[in-house]
Amino acid sequence: MTITSADQTSPLIIDGAHLIGDQWVPACDGQAIGVINPATGDVLGTVPRGASADADLAVSTAQRAFPAWRDTDATTRGALLARWADLIDANATEIARLECLEVGHPSWGPPPMPRILRFVAGQADKVSGLSLPTMSPEVIGLTLREPYGVVGAIIPWNAPGPMFVTDVGPAIAAGNTIVIKPAEDAPLTALALAKLAMEAGIPPGVINVVTGYGAEAGAAIAAHPGVRRMSFTGSPATGRSVMAACARNLTPLHLELGGKSPQVVFADADLAAAIPAMVASITLNTGQICAAGSRVVADERVHAELVDRLAARMQKVQVGPWHEHVQMGPLINARQHARVLDYVRVGREEGADLVTGGGIPAGARYEAGFFVEPTLFDRVEPGMRIAREEIFGPVLSVLTVADEDEAVAVANGTDYGLVASVWTRDVGRAVRMSRKLQAGQVHVNAALGAGVIGGPFGGYKHSGFGRTMGADSVLDYTQVKTVSLRGTGASA
Ligand code: NAD
Repeated sequence: MTITSADQTSPLIIDGAHLIGDQWVPACDGQAIGVINPATGDVLGTVPRGASADADLAVSTAQRAFPAWRDTDATTRGALLARWADLIDANATEIARLECLEVGHPSWGPPPMPRILRFVAGQADKVSGLSLPTMSPEVIGLTLREPYGVVGAIIPWNAPGPMFVTDVGPAIAAGNTIVIKPAEDAPLTALALAKLAMEAGIPPGVINVVTGYGAEAGAAIAAHPGVRRMSFTGSPATGRSVMAACARNLTPLHLELGGKSPQVVFADADLAAAIPAMVASITLNTGQICAAGSRVVADERVHAELVDRLAARMQKVQVGPWHEHVQMGPLINARQHARVLDYVRVGREEGADLVTGGGIPAGARYEAGFFVEPTLFDRVEPGMRIAREEIFGPVLSVLTVADEDEAVAVANGTDYGLVASVWTRDVGRAVRMSRKLQAGQVHVNAALGAGVIGGPFGGYKHSGFGRTMGADSVLDYTQVKTVSLRGTGASA
């Protein structure tokens, strides 16, 4: 996959329109938002600035499409999802390039969306209820699993392709129709995926994509009385406001929020394996990963060597525009850039040791984009803001502990609980830590996971509730109905 800096076009960019039913249309009031390449500041295209009128139109379109889609047999629904996966595979290079263009990350290789969709497609016709005991032999008792109707989803910009299919796939596999809002910073991949879904034969109105700002289009979807179930992925602050909007309509809700994931390193750890994985975990997508291992909780016996080796590795990370085959691109936008640099200031003021990074890399090639250096802080204390708050940038904080108990206390000592890692060769310790760490995923001797297929993903505490990706992901988009059947003409 090669690209020159001037090559910012893509046949998959849908300019100025979002998807309502089978129509690619501008916003009802005609307003638009520019989407920029965060490495260069150049405009890649525009998308409609949707608001409540667009949300209304999308929800009513999805309501009309619902009965026929609900009644489409589950095997056919699964087959259509599998065909969608095939089309994404056929366009994998362009889809991956589009995501790189709007998010700014170096290529991650073949996109995971086909794999995610095939996993879900296989669940579509396995949604089943129970046969239940009854008080009388003349009665049969059973449960049905039914879709909700129109579901709403709001996703962030940091992995727009995977986020889109992770919500849309299970929702429509279960027979719901969906109105989804991608983030204003990276909506183009979502629109391209929706176009491929239509080409795969998924009927019009089953997937509706409304683009726009969160406070406008997003808030309108979350508050819409026609939305029967809501899914939100993003920051805890926005999650609270989406939850408040859902409360008004008693809309059930799934929240996938942020993280401050600990990487606990014991003295017996295999540092040769741990260090590259830990640095990759905080520099992948420039640290803009909900699961980023942003806190190192280091056994004091390994602390000095660990910090030296982490710093050396971080200094070697090549930063630049993604098409230059670097390891780390820019941050997504000017606001995120200012936020990360501000956290560096906060960390220094709080008294942490800045070991490496902390600034904007020097050179003309970094002037137009939102670049920062991979940054390492040592001597971080659990009460410091850089130890507790999600920075969403390539900033790694090292905290030192004396023993296993303190490691557990420090690792669990934030409001978050998305992912945690443990680096040790001691199996007993690995088992104890796996049980004690408060996180929706715990990885032993791996930073972002060792490749479990179908592992449920989601948070403890303020990282959210509900799980995606697991064997229950389609079931989660259904509601349960108990049916009792009494036969007529039974003997007295
Ligand atoms: P964000 O909360 O600012 O925005 C997320 C989405 O919500 C965007 O589409 C945005 O337009 C929309 N939004 C904003 N305000 C809204 C409002 N008032 N009502 C309705 N929608 C609104 O988050 P972000 O900065 O785009 O993403 C970063 C955050 O997402 C981080 O906290 C990160 O950890 C989290 N995240 C979590 C997961 C997960 O699976 N747990 C995955 C990716 C990102």
